[in-house]
Amino acid sequence: MEPFSTVDWPDKIAVTLFLQGCPWQCEYCHNFDILDPKVPGQIPWSEVLELLEKRQGLIDGVVFSGGEPLMQPAIIEAAQTVKDLGFLVGLHTGGAYPKTLEKLIPYLDWVGFDIKAPWEKYDQVTLRRNSAPAAQASLKLLLDQQIDLQTRTTFDKLLLTDHDLKLIDQQLKNIGAPPTIVQEIRTLGTSDEFKERYRQRPVVSY
Ligand code: SF4
Repeated sequence: MEPFSTVDWPDKIAVTLFLQGCPWQCEYCHNFDILDPKVPGQIPWSEVLELLEKRQGLIDGVVFSGGEPLMQPAIIEAAQTVKDLGFLVGLHTGGAYPKTLEKLIPYLDWVGFDIKAPWEKYDQVTLRRNSAPAAQASLKLLLDQQIDLQTRTTFDKLLLTDHDLKLIDQQLKNIGAPPTIVQEIRTLGTSDEFKERYRQRPVVSY
């Protein structure tokens, strides 16, 4: 839990909750330690509610982040509770669970949606077979429901090219989604293997 975040939701002050579990395995994942849904949780929901009661009037909303927060079906009830307390609800997702997303939509005020790659290259980044269709279905749901949406792409130069970024924007434009915001790789929170790979990557001089 990040009790006072100014960076997880544009122009909003939020409490950010990092929900464990993700079906994908992006090498650059910066929350590597919480990808396993079976590791013991660190913060009980009651503690979150206690904090939110103290934050009323001081923050705008709550961001459910991860991992992949849609992996936890209880997110629906949690979002409803957050809304009942008078806060806005934000979500960070890669869209791996469109059915859960559909149930969450009535409570959503904003979504930061990770676009991993051009659709054809999705599995190379997620390291899971057939990962693009779920992301496409989720994105379509958000667009159809006109949810306030930011798309963003982590740019790992060993996985994506400049041409891929252009292709992503073209594919997003084709479905009426906003262009993606490119985010640089961060090594904080990544696996030791990724840190090593990152350390050994060729240095480009300009
Ligand atoms: S989808 Fe997000 S949380 Fe899941 S492995 Fe990829 S970067 Fe990590």
